[in-house]
Amino acid sequence: MTSSMLTDTFNRNHHYLRISLTDVCNFRCLYCMPEDAQFMPSARLMSADEIEQIARIFVAQGVDKIRLTGGEPLVRKDAADIMRRLGKLPVELTMTTNGMLLHQYVEVMQEAGMTSVNISLDTLQSQKFLQITKRDAFYQVRQNIDLMLEKGFRVKVNCVALRGWNDDEVIDFVCLTKELPLHIRFIEFMPFKGNQWAGASVYPYEELIQQISAQFDIVKLKDELHDTTRKFKVIGHTGTFAVITTMSQPFCSGCNRLRLTADGKMKNCLFSENESDILGPFRRGEDILTIIQQNVLDKKKETGGQLLRKYEDMDSEKIVNRSMVHIGG
Ligand code: SAM
Ligand code: SF4
Repeated sequence: MTSSMLTDTFNRNHHYLRISLTDVCNFRCLYCMPEDAQFMPSARLMSADEIEQIARIFVAQGVDKIRLTGGEPLVRKDAADIMRRLGKLPVELTMTTNGMLLHQYVEVMQEAGMTSVNISLDTLQSQKFLQITKRDAFYQVRQNIDLMLEKGFRVKVNCVALRGWNDDEVIDFVCLTKELPLHIRFIEFMPFKGNQWAGASVYPYEELIQQISAQFDIVKLKDELHDTTRKFKVIGHTGTFAVITTMSQPFCSGCNRLRLTADGKMKNCLFSENESDILGPFRRGEDILTIIQQNVLDKKKETGGQLLRKYEDMDSEKIVNRSMVHIGG
C-alpha cells in the first residue's frame, strides 16, 4: 500500500471519498429522517463545478474511489451533470441510492463509467415499505433492482436490520440470493440525532448469523482490509450476504473513508464530532489542502470517539453529530 498525504496518525491511508449531493430526499425513512428535518438552502450546496474541482484535489492526494450519496443523490436536478464530470476522473465511481429514480438515470450512470450501485431496501412487503419510508414505492424500487442487474451492474442491497420491523424477513432477503447475483448487506441500526434509535432496536450480527445458519448451510467469505462488512454465502446460492457490524464490532482499523457533506464540510468519520469547512475557503480562493490534511490527522481511532462498545446503554441524543441525511450515509 502506498502512503499518501491522506494518512492519519493510526497509519490509515484514505483513498475513498463519499460525497453527499444533497440532504433532500424523496423518502422519509423512519430510522434516518428526523421528523423536523430542515433542508439546506441550495446556495449553501456545492455546485456541480465545485464538486468536480474539490474532488480533483482529493484525487490528486490519492483518492481512487468516489461514492455519491445523500439524502437521495438522484433527486438533485444536476445529478447527471455531476456524474458525467466525476466519470472523467481516474476513480471508481459509484452511488448509494434508494433506487426510486434509477430507471431515469441508468444510461447516464453507464456513460459515467459506473459498474456498481448500492440500493437500499429494508423490506420485501409493499405495505411495510410504505410504513418505513412513508412512500408507496416498493414495486418501483424492486423493479429497478432487476433493471440494474439486467444492465450488468453489480448490485448491493442495503437493508437496515431493525428488531420488530424486519427481523422476520431476514430469511426472505437471503432467499433472494439463491437465483439473483445480489449482495445483501444487513446494516446494524446506528444512532443519529432524531432517528428514533434505541439499543433494543438493533438486531445485531450474532443474532442475524444465528438465524440464517439455522436455516441454511453458510460459508464465511474472505473480508478485505477496508471492508465494512462480514461476508457470507449460502452454499449453492448465486449471490452473497454480509453484515455491517458498526455497533457490535466496529471495523475502524482498516477505515479508508472520508466524507464531504452537501454543503462542503469534510468529516473524517460518520460519527466525527468535528467537521472542517472546505467550501467556504474554496470559494474564497484559499488553500484547502492543508485543511483536508489536518482533518485527516484529527481522525479518532474508532467511531469518531463517540460510540460506546456497550451500545445498548447509549443515548443517541448525546452524540454530537448531524443527522444521517445531513451527513450523507
Ligand atoms: N438515500 C440513499 C439511500 O437510502 O440509499 C442514500 C443515503 S442513505 C442515508 C445511505 C444508507 O444509510 C442507506 O442504505 C440507509 O439505509 C442507511 N441508513 C440511514 N440511516 C441509518 C441508520 N440510522 N442506521 C443504519 N443505516 C442507516
Ligand atoms: Fe432518504 Fe436514504 Fe434516509 Fe431513506 S435512508 S430517508 S431514502 S436518505
